[in-house]
Amino acid sequence: MKLWTFKDGELYFNNKGLGALAKVYERPTYYYDVSLVSQRADLYSNVLYQNGHKNDKIFYALKANSYSAVLSGIHRSGMGVDVVSGGEIRIAMTNGFSPAEIIFSGVGKTVDEIAMSLDLGIRQINVESVSELKRIVTLAEQKKRHISVVFRINPDVDVQTHPYIATGFRDNKFGMSQTDLPELFQIVKKSTYVKWQGISIHIGSQILELKNLDEAFSKTRKLVDSLNSQGHQVHRCDLGGGLGIFYDKQNFQTEESLLLDYGKLVSQYFGDLGCERQFEPGRWIVAHAGFLLCQVQYIKNNGYKTFVILDSGMNHLLRPSLYGAYHEIYPLIERAGHAEYEFVGPICESGDFIAKQRKSSFLQEGDFVVIADTGAYGFTMANHYNAHLLPIQAVF
Ligand SMILES: *Cc1c(COP(=O)(O)O)cnc(C)c1O
Repeated sequence: MKLWTFKDGELYFNNKGLGALAKVYERPTYYYDVSLVSQRADLYSNVLYQNGHKNDKIFYALKANSYSAVLSGIHRSGMGVDVVSGGEIRIAMTNGFSPAEIIFSGVGKTVDEIAMSLDLGIRQINVESVSELKRIVTLAEQKKRHISVVFRINPDVDVQTHPYIATGFRDNKFGMSQTDLPELFQIVKKSTYVKWQGISIHIGSQILELKNLDEAFSKTRKLVDSLNSQGHQVHRCDLGGGLGIFYDKQNFQTEESLLLDYGKLVSQYFGDLGCERQFEPGRWIVAHAGFLLCQVQYIKNNGYKTFVILDSGMNHLLRPSLYGAYHEIYPLIERAGHAEYEFVGPICESGDFIAKQRKSSFLQEGDFVVIADTGAYGFTMANHYNAHLLPIQAVF
């Protein structure tokens, strides 16, 4: 399957022509193909549930994309959600997810956010520090509300991804060290309302090296065995998300075989355990299913290079500026001839770029371009810097 093609010079996405989008253009717009989201969600579920136990469950990481129609597609596929703030809990509830389908991660949960989780009775809080557990226990006793928790362990794996999205190394703020476990069990033992269910890990995002996950899973399995043998029965094993996708070449075959290998790895380390296995994929489900349509405002040559100045920059798509991330850029209508461009936005920062030294078919002012594979961490990271409007979101 090839997602992006040209027919008679017109750009096609998933076999649908995009030319007509120019006619209804108001300002930069993220478009999402919900059928592709469902397809990806089903594919991921099929692989991970294979040989799985009936009570395994996938919790889509809502921070990747929380547009209503996208969430509906994900909900229909049977997934719950992994949230990282009270705001995300509200978004999940508004979009039909029940509290029993919500798990709450993140290092900075406030009193209000924990109180909200207790009042709603969400499925699980993934605890990221000793102080957080104390806060949860205090609030749960005050409110007399039951809550399940798992302890997020930092497995100390040096993940091969951009340092800003590596989360499972001892350098990172995420999770807890195994040396915290005795204290954590002490705290939870004293509580009537907080029930410890197991452990969680999430070692990073955009992971394409399975050896990193192999190392993390191996360490986690050892920990589970040791806890079980100490009488701390592990009922839930949350293995996080993080599986990467290919941004530079549309290679779905390689991506799917990576997913299959990931599934095998999960079975290898956790297949024989009786615990509920949980997964938290974000990017893998939604990244390919979205694109950002924007317009060339100016083309400026300064004698060194040619800048294509778009009406979208780091305010609408932060990933290139933040991580040096690569996104394909396609013109809506292909012109003859080629040139090398630097695609930049309107923001008053030199770090405001979408792509550097990029070969493209020839562009003119007023042309439309599509920034591909922006269904994950696109709109959810968009901001109002320089007081530009946020992009529009729509279903395609
Ligand atoms: C962001 C995040 C995820 C999802 O990561 P992806 O790389 O998008 O799959 C899962 N779990 C936690 C705790 C996260 O913070």
